[in-house]
Amino acid sequence: MPVRSLGSPHRSGPSPQLAETPELRSALSWFTKNLAWINDQQIRITEIPAPPFQEAARASVVKTLLAESGLNVQIDKTGNVIGELPGANDKEIVMLTAHLDTVFPPGTDVKVRREGERLSAPGISDNGTGLAALVSIARAIQESKIRPRRTILFVADVGEEGEGNLRGMRALVEAYRARLKAALVLDGSGTDHVTTKALASRRLEVLITGPGGHSWSDFGMPNPINALVRGSIRFINTKVPANPRTTFNLGQIEGGTSVNSIPYDAKLKVDIRSESEEELGKLESALRESISAGVRDEMESSRDRSKGKLDWKIDVLGTRPGGELSPNSPLLAALRAADDYVSNQSRIERSSTDANIPLANGIDAISIGAGGTGGGAHSLQEWYEPSGREMGLKRALLTLLGISGIAEEKAK
Ligand SMILES: [Zn+2]
Repeated sequence: MPVRSLGSPHRSGPSPQLAETPELRSALSWFTKNLAWINDQQIRITEIPAPPFQEAARASVVKTLLAESGLNVQIDKTGNVIGELPGANDKEIVMLTAHLDTVFPPGTDVKVRREGERLSAPGISDNGTGLAALVSIARAIQESKIRPRRTILFVADVGEEGEGNLRGMRALVEAYRARLKAALVLDGSGTDHVTTKALASRRLEVLITGPGGHSWSDFGMPNPINALVRGSIRFINTKVPANPRTTFNLGQIEGGTSVNSIPYDAKLKVDIRSESEEELGKLESALRESISAGVRDEMESSRDRSKGKLDWKIDVLGTRPGGELSPNSPLLAALRAADDYVSNQSRIERSSTDANIPLANGIDAISIGAGGTGGGAHSLQEWYEPSGREMGLKRALLTLLGISGIAEEKAK
């Protein structure tokens, strides 16, 4: 058989040249032969709850799965599962990652329901698909006895969602910074996009406190919920630009103890995002001004200020830095070559993912879906359909090996 090269020679950037060896063909066909196993692992992983900061049970199952494929696996002190496949050159590392955590609180029913082809459960796609792909790609490479040129780390990381604040990826970049050449992040399903631009975001928590009292006898006293509502209405009337795209979301509200008590506190969590750091800064200032004005309005309209006043503060729960992959990056060239090989087309996207951290540190990173089709992410109606997932798995494997390279000499 002629040795075919993956990647088009006329490409302008540095293009990975993967020879289509019997080992590579065997790795690519592994997925088609093991589709039932891949679906089973996705269901098994999804049915282990992984609320934010409680990923340990799921981590230990993924650790076992990676170890069964022959990798040397450890869990670092942050909770990340790291399976190492030594390359011919162990001074350089590439990472394939999928986040372990979900947005769902403890107690959420995560039992997977099957209706025909469709699998439904919270977290089935985000990130059951990515985790199933991670363990499958590790197996496909190991069973085909491919030895990479650069060391590959197969990583299931913690803390991608919400208040996790990307702590798993922050720890990984911190630990491997000097040797880390690229990170390929698997997040959710699909093959239609490649995230090369990191969306900057901040998560803020507003807290307003006051003396509290009885709804009837203390009427007229300043009320923290009233102040929060007054401030929130001001804030949601803030005009944000369509370009650079800038968004806000009032995501969670809490406060008070009973219907007939003047509450002593009120809390609000707000997520703000922008393609521009400057707009992000403006929006955070708008929130501070709005809340300050809401508190002032409530104080001014209260009849009884003798029993105390309102205090307020805004804490930053998390920030995600922005960044962008260079259009000439070898990682993007590897992805494009993989797209060509599997006859896929994908569009560049900007989003907030684990790739934000390496990108903000000047390390090449992209985030892609791991194939199949999914929907309803972050909702209880989340679903996944595996049909066609082989294409996404091949695309991810070819991108990974395109950037790690394959050593001339075979693995033992
Ligand atoms: Zn995700």
